[in-house]
Amino acid sequence: MPDIQKNLHHIKQLIASYEQKYGRKAESVRLLVASKGRSVEEMKEVVRAGHTVFGENFVQDALTKMLSFPDDLAIEWHIIGHIQRNKTRKTAEHFDWVETIDHPVIAQRLNDQRPPHLSPLNICIEVNVSGEATKSGVLMEDALALAKYCARLPWLKLRGLMTVPAPNDDFQQQRRGFRTLYELFERFRSEGFEVDVLSMGMSNDFEAAIAEGATEVRIGSAIFDQ
Ligand SMILES: *Cc1c(COP(=O)(O)O)cnc(C)c1O
Repeated sequence: MPDIQKNLHHIKQLIASYEQKYGRKAESVRLLVASKGRSVEEMKEVVRAGHTVFGENFVQDALTKMLSFPDDLAIEWHIIGHIQRNKTRKTAEHFDWVETIDHPVIAQRLNDQRPPHLSPLNICIEVNVSGEATKSGVLMEDALALAKYCARLPWLKLRGLMTVPAPNDDFQQQRRGFRTLYELFERFRSEGFEVDVLSMGMSNDFEAAIAEGATEVRIGSAIFDQ
């Protein structure tokens, strides 16, 4: 049985050490625990260690899990998987963040379906930095137009950019992909978007992501499988 609490603690220490190593401010990188396919019991181990930010890939799985946590436990739920049109209502009703906006229709539906008693839904635009045809996310050159579209929607709050680059074992190559997204992030800022979240880096490449300016890393297997 993996020691989830120990792994979580270790990952948090690594994040802090990479912040220092790459001249990043202390606590400028947030951890999101990627919990797709993990049981409620596994997730409760994470909660017991004091961590309450989770990312799920599938809306229905996440809704089922939500029912198992007490209402007064302030868990922050993010969607980090591709969203289908017929899932937007449940997403708008039950999540705090959607990191995978890649089409104006999805953005519009989430906006229209966000219940007015909730705060605006935090969103990131998912960018396909490696340009592979099979991947989700908008191409680099289309991201700004999508951001402009989202900026007009009052029930969405554009927070930043997210990417899942093609897997690569070479550290310098990993950095190159992340740098591309960082440069786009800077471009967004110079265009006047008040973005503050750069969601990039997973178990195998989060050091490179932190080196290149990630403000959020999404980690699953290094916490649940080791
Ligand atoms: C699964 C997943 C992660 C976490 O990946 P690990 O390699 O398990 O750390 C991060 N982001 C997304 C979008 C994922 O689907």
